[in-house]
Amino acid sequence: MPQTDLLKTDCSKCSALCCIALAFDKGDDFAFDKNPGEPCPNLSAHKCTIHDKLSQEGFSGCVAYDCLGAGNRVVQEVFAGRSWQKDPRLTRPMMEAFAGMREVHKRIDMLRAAETFPLSPREHQTRREFLDRLEQHHWSGAELNDFEVGLGLEIDIFFHGIRKYAPIDL
Ligand code: SF4
Repeated sequence: MPQTDLLKTDCSKCSALCCIALAFDKGDDFAFDKNPGEPCPNLSAHKCTIHDKLSQEGFSGCVAYDCLGAGNRVVQEVFAGRSWQKDPRLTRPMMEAFAGMREVHKRIDMLRAAETFPLSPREHQTRREFLDRLEQHHWSGAELNDFEVGLGLEIDIFFHGIRKYAPIDL
């Protein structure tokens, strides 16, 4: 059975985590201010009520945003399909897990991009091992909360060492 790419965003398997977790400021990309943790007023259940006319309504920032599959992975893998809307006690842990998973998926994207760098055999092996760990691990909320100060930091140090091959925006 073909496997879906982990970095492919599937909003139908998410619970609109970006529409509650992320903050934005009124300006060219968003028509009003929104605080983190505040459900967007344009949200109805898990759907955006202005999805088909986001740009016309002043939300080109939403069109441009891509969580790289972090939202659907958090909802399905960490919370077994549950939603903060049905169980408001999940709101904070789901937002925290979403923040952690975005960092995981950002590094998967960067590790994949590093495949084209002229790495040494040892660096290639390290890159592959990090990628396997990030892609195959079944993450818990607690592990995601610790990611940036643990494995995420180890990967960032690795990126720092291979920056000589190409610029990496950490
Ligand atoms: S405008 Fe729509 S896509 Fe953007 S945050 Fe609000 S509900 Fe989500």
